[in-house]
Amino acid sequence: MGHPSQWKNKQIREHIDVIEGKISPTVLLKDATYLHSGFKKWIKGHIWIYEDRIIYAGPTLPENTEECEMIDCEKLTIVPGYIEPHVHPFQLYNPHSFAQYASKTGTTTLINDNLMFFLLNNKKKAFSLLDSYKHLPVSMFWWCRFDSQSEMENEEKIFSLEAVKTWLKRDDVIQGGELTSWPRLVQGDDMILQWIQETKKLREKSRRAFSRCI
Ligand SMILES: [Zn+2]
Repeated sequence: MGHPSQWKNKQIREHIDVIEGKISPTVLLKDATYLHSGFKKWIKGHIWIYEDRIIYAGPTLPENTEECEMIDCEKLTIVPGYIEPHVHPFQLYNPHSFAQYASKTGTTTLINDNLMFFLLNNKKKAFSLLDSYKHLPVSMFWWCRFDSQSEMENEEKIFSLEAVKTWLKRDDVIQGGELTSWPRLVQGDDMILQWIQETKKLREKSRRAFSRCI
């Protein structure tokens, strides 16, 4: 499912039109038993989906079903997409193929390591790839490395404060780490300590921005 910021005003108005019966949902999951993430209970009802968003879940059926694919879910149990909070998506696969594989068994939110993109691409290319993942039917988030997996030559130049900060400013970069060189931090490396503070500062900012949005 998409990120809230991806829905433009026009789309949000269409979502309301679906509720009001002016447009039909794209997909209707009929007579489903689903796990309600708010109530934390199994509920019986119908789920209306319009394009990439759940518009409604509850006892009411839509009046307008002109262009709606109806799926009988009477014998099915439906849960929200699972979250995998720690992915290294560059082993025998790439972030796209990993997400495709995971989504087949219900994991649709992934928090990924950015190491390969940090090392291999210039920022512009890496960021345009990250942006392209926003069009996939999964939610992709990232953590930003402060160091490499094993010691490298010129490590301070590659993981410069400027480069790390540019990554941390993105909405889909939600963590700092993972910290392989934590012994350096313990031994008094102030650069790493500064990055940790920087991450905290930026995340605080984004949290505040979110609370204003609600
Ligand atoms: Zn790891």
